[in-house]
Amino acid sequence: MQDPGPDEVLVRIQSSGICRTDLEIVDGALEFPLPFVAGHEGAGTVVGVGSGVTTVEVGDTVVLGAAACGTCPRCRTGAYSYCEQHAAMNFTGTRLDGSTGLRGRVGETIYGHFMRQSSWAGLALAHASNTVKVPSDVDPFVLGPFGCGIQTGAGAVWNILGVEPGSTVAVFGLGAVGQAAIMAARVAGTTTIIAIGNRQPKLDLALELGATHAFSARDGDVADLIRDVTGGGVQYTVEAAGKPDVMTTAVEVLAETGHAAITGVAAGASFPLDAWKMIRGRSVHGTTLGDAAPSVILPRLIDLYQQGAFPADRLMTHYPLDDVQRAIADVDNGAAIKAVLHP
Ligand SMILES: [Zn+2]
Ligand SMILES: [Zn+2]
Repeated sequence: MQDPGPDEVLVRIQSSGICRTDLEIVDGALEFPLPFVAGHEGAGTVVGVGSGVTTVEVGDTVVLGAAACGTCPRCRTGAYSYCEQHAAMNFTGTRLDGSTGLRGRVGETIYGHFMRQSSWAGLALAHASNTVKVPSDVDPFVLGPFGCGIQTGAGAVWNILGVEPGSTVAVFGLGAVGQAAIMAARVAGTTTIIAIGNRQPKLDLALELGATHAFSARDGDVADLIRDVTGGGVQYTVEAAGKPDVMTTAVEVLAETGHAAITGVAAGASFPLDAWKMIRGRSVHGTTLGDAAPSVILPRLIDLYQQGAFPADRLMTHYPLDDVQRAIADVDNGAAIKAVLHP
């Protein structure tokens, strides 16, 4: 590992979640130069800062999100997830200048800088733009997943749907994004929260986290069940299953003027919409990372977590970093909702 460059932050990683996007790298669906260090839900303690970094100091507890340039037209409006440099800064395996700060035991080049962290490691070379200081009294052991999956689910509910107290929401898919959406809906005062999933343990957890109803296909046609519960249609839906047919359902079950948020990744997929239903005021909004500025949403989420109002630790199963293969297997077979690695 090289010393941090002027705009970089060296972080001793204490927790790092496993997210679907990491598994696409492991599977080879997302291609990077090899050898490559994955991991993009890191958190830990700052152990070094570059000369131009003013936002964090050595010793700070930080959560790492996605990097953004901070100066392009979209960044200037706060739309950091849509930074014009999003792919270049987060998804190339190198820094913007093509260099890499990671080295192997005998000095060989290792690629990474994934989401400007590559956090499945003991140390991560992060960027000033994706390093968010959080209170030092919160346990870094649980912080990693806040920077991607949890932010995405909460941002979908708060930033995109803007749910109101007393409103109705249905959440499709009960992984970390969906469960975070349920907790965020509860915080926002939503009074009908319908969880849709396949596995009973995830449905049970959703009910414990704030869902008022939980259905699987075994209970019947979920669209009919949602219409029954909501008196004809639900005001808001979050699609967190990443499946095109579920996206169609998430729009179909909306009441007139209802809004759907699509958070899942289904590369190359498309889904049909009923045009007549759309002209009755329904809308669908796709999102990357919940349209959230990490420096705004992460401290809020962690405050809520500390107050017990957003118990994200309930999603997590913990593994030593050396057990990454077992953790990946548990994510694949559904035994873990959010696997968290610890170096
Ligand atoms: Zn992710
Ligand atoms: Zn930008």
